[in-house]
Amino acid sequence: MDDLKSRVAYLKGLAAGLGLEESSREGKLFNQLIDVVEALSESVIELQEEFDELVDYTEAIDEDLNELEEDFYEEELEDDLLLEDDDDLFSVECPDCHEIVYIDDDMLEDEDVVEILCPNCERVVFVNDDEDYVDFDDDELEE
Ligand SMILES: [Zn+2]
Repeated sequence: MDDLKSRVAYLKGLAAGLGLEESSREGKLFNQLIDVVEALSESVIELQEEFDELVDYTEAIDEDLNELEEDFYEEELEDDLLLEDDDDLFSVECPDCHEIVYIDDDMLEDEDVVEILCPNCERVVFVNDDEDYVDFDDDELEE
């Protein structure tokens, strides 16, 4: 921007070097032209300064927002982990394909869910009924 200032100053010097009579038509024209160029360059310099301030301000807001986001998602993650701890989640290994099947209390409280199947091979890995479960055990003992 200093470049713009010095170029306007140089233009003024060139115009003065022409030795034009200020009251002549040419003198008036040159004076007006240089005034306009000078006003424009001052506006541009001012805008540039305000723009730089805005960029600094935006960067500061962006940093603050990042910190807030990190804090927020950290808390959310901690909440999720706490929820998982509250759930009675247990796992059963499928005897056929050895896939680990996770079962939580919510699934067992649902009476429509009687059998829990291995998502991989669809073998029954857990029976959600105490009686059936006992029978199943007895059958195995008889064999
Ligand atoms: Zn399986």
